Amino acid sequence: MKNKITILGAGLVGSLAGILLQKRGYTVTILERRPDMRKASISAGKSINLAMSLRGWAALEMAGLRKEIEEIAIPMYGRQIHNIDGTSPFQAYGKNNEAIYSVSRGDLNKKLMSLAEQCGVRILFNQRVDEVELQSNKLSIMDLESNTPSAFGDHDIVIAADGAFSALRNAYVKTDRFNYSQYYIEHGYKELFIPAGENNSFLIEEKALHIWPRKNFMLIALPNFDGSFTCTLFFPFEGNPSFASIKTREEAESFFNEQFPDAVKLMPTLIDDYFKNPTSSLVTVKCFPWIYEDKSMLIGDAAHAIVPFYGQGMNAGFEDCRILMETIDNSTDKEWGNIFKTYQEARKKNGDAVADLALQNFIEMRDLVADPEFLARKKIEKQLGLLYPAEFNSVYEMVSFSHTSYHVAISCQKAQDRLLGKIMPAGDFDNNVNDQAFKTNLDSWMKEYNAEIAGIVG
Ligand SMILES: Cc1cc2nc3c(=O)[nH]c(=O)nc-3n(C[C@H](O)[C@H](O)[C@H](O)COP(=O)(O)OP(=O)(O)OC[C@H]3O[C@@H](n4cnc5c(N)ncnc54)[C@H](O)[C@@H]3O)c2cc1C
Repeated sequence: MKNKITILGAGLVGSLAGILLQKRGYTVTILERRPDMRKASISAGKSINLAMSLRGWAALEMAGLRKEIEEIAIPMYGRQIHNIDGTSPFQAYGKNNEAIYSVSRGDLNKKLMSLAEQCGVRILFNQRVDEVELQSNKLSIMDLESNTPSAFGDHDIVIAADGAFSALRNAYVKTDRFNYSQYYIEHGYKELFIPAGENNSFLIEEKALHIWPRKNFMLIALPNFDGSFTCTLFFPFEGNPSFASIKTREEAESFFNEQFPDAVKLMPTLIDDYFKNPTSSLVTVKCFPWIYEDKSMLIGDAAHAIVPFYGQGMNAGFEDCRILMETIDNSTDKEWGNIFKTYQEARKKNGDAVADLALQNFIEMRDLVADPEFLARKKIEKQLGLLYPAEFNSVYEMVSFSHTSYHVAISCQKAQDRLLGKIMPAGDFDNNVNDQAFKTNLDSWMKEYNAEIAGIVG
């Protein structure tokens, strides 16, 4: 049995994959470019908070870690929208009080690394993998502490969890018939901060994901345990207003006062943070194949880097881990070439679908959540879910609160567009459902919808 595995990258996905594989009896070594983040502090402006949803929890549960991670997660039951006119409606995420969970990426990563080491995974830090020789699986490594190059080949299998700019994927790019695309959106992001109030109190609703939608840009805030909020400004690089157009403190002050007056009051270090914290870009990567013979494979962002607007990058990466483990568990011969092929077959179409869903959701978050027609649609979707609980789930619910494949969810979205296209022109839904003729039409539209969904799900 080929049981020595080297994972590239001790990020979220690499650490979790390491735990799951080591628990299955494999011997796992992880090579990580960065120093040990449990000893070094995370640099300012890089302490992103992530939303964990069902797919993430399912993989953690498989590793027996759900309870450990719940201790560092805050439930968010919906979006609290902060409109420019000062109104702040709350939009629940699910019809059954479901939540997504705010987790600090740094804290989660540190915890997963420690848990991996407790399971026997060996993590080697400051080891940057520069090149992978695909046939021999030999890795060229740079020790970033001593600045010395070396080679590493003490393994049977290489799994690349080294993120959006994967070294293994770079080697795949040079092979024949490898498809690869990367696409940067015109927006970047910058971290900002709302501190805690007195006695670690939350200055805005604790159990919500806050959004200040402003059409072409938005500010969001996710809660932390100490009462503070980690905020992210998603903003165009160019144009007016943009990162490029705001050059002075005065320009920044006037922009934030005009666009986010309620948030500015809560952000005493706003202008310093704006100029001190880095501006980062957002990329979507699609590629194929994700595997090389029976030797190596891509997982997580290395296979499918996506923009963060559905809160699914980590969740999708964790789901990759769960599906890979199920594939290994179900394999009778434990032959890596077959395991890789089955994993790729299951995950590639989902990697593409979640990338598309994430790009679409940016428009929903920054613009549509404040649009009356969109809100009317959301209200109807919610009522459909209550009227037809076994038949109708919104696409958001499918993505965040179910195991429905991302590629199925995207097809269901089109069916829902058609269904809502029939319902919405009829006007006030609350009134209409009490009208027998409308209800008869609705039942028949739902029948057509169900037939379409059955065709998609197969
Ligand atoms: C602003 C923002 C908000 C987000 N919000 C969410 C959210 O709400 N929910 C969600 O699910 N996802 C979210 N994501 C996405 C999520 O952060 C990523 O999908 C997730 O971190 C991917 O994990 P990974 O382990 O695959 O890659 P990474 O987290 O990128 O980890 C890769 C690791 O590999 C190491 N590495 C890289 N190159 C090398 C090399 N050559 N040699 C050795 N080591 C290497 C890196 O140092 C790193 O430790 C967000 C992302 C951003 C940017």
